[in-house]
Amino acid sequence: MSQTAMSETYDFLFKFLVIGNAGTGKSCLLHQFIEKKFKDDSNHTIGVEFGSKIINVGGKYVKLQIWDTAGQERFRSVTRSYYRGAAGALLVYDITSRETYNSLTNWLTDARMLASQNIVIILCGNKKDLDADREVTFLEASRFAQENELMFLETSALTGENVEEAFVQCARKILNKIESGELDPERMGSGIQYGDAALRQLRSPRRAQAQSAQECGC
Ligand code: GDP
Ligand code: MG
Repeated sequence: MSQTAMSETYDFLFKFLVIGNAGTGKSCLLHQFIEKKFKDDSNHTIGVEFGSKIINVGGKYVKLQIWDTAGQERFRSVTRSYYRGAAGALLVYDITSRETYNSLTNWLTDARMLASQNIVIILCGNKKDLDADREVTFLEASRFAQENELMFLETSALTGENVEEAFVQCARKILNKIESGELDPERMGSGIQYGDAALRQLRSPRRAQAQSAQECGC
């Protein structure tokens, strides 16, 4: 198999969102995750709206298709279509800004109302490197996370600390839910699709035939 074909082979595809107030570092988190470097301010190109990366989670290859609000949140106009059918989300606040922390409840309400009912959310207290300017303690945020059934990490898009972990932990939780049967990837709007690798294992020959007959339209 060629290198390209190898790198496009995955078991699952998950749609992910990055949400939270403007300025919390969402675009930088996405950039750090995809490019493994900090997106500095001198780079004035329009924000990346979308990124994808294949990660290995406990032996399964998962392609994350990640959507960034790309500035919509500045106008409080994050649309319904943005949320539709997301399997996971990073909900981001800035540990040096209580205002961004206070907005979390609003973001959660929207996500739970407009995204998939079963969306798995990880709370990210970003800018962990700015500990001297901290306005929100780790303990306070971890209590909030517990009360709202969120996973929680403090991250730094600047140093890269916990950035990959945030995406991986969220993906792992979704995989666990699929394996336990709590999440059905075939349900409409689950935000999950099978990749080629999983399809080959999962689908019975009869079903695979039916599927390809459907696709070729003959
Ligand atoms: P967004 O509006 O949520 O997409 O936020 P951006 O990714 O555009 O980042 C907003 C500002 O915060 C920029 O000036 C970034 O350089 C800065 N920033 C983002 N993440 C971090 C971080 O982890 N640490 C520090 N010190 N600054 C950050
Ligand atoms: Mg942004």
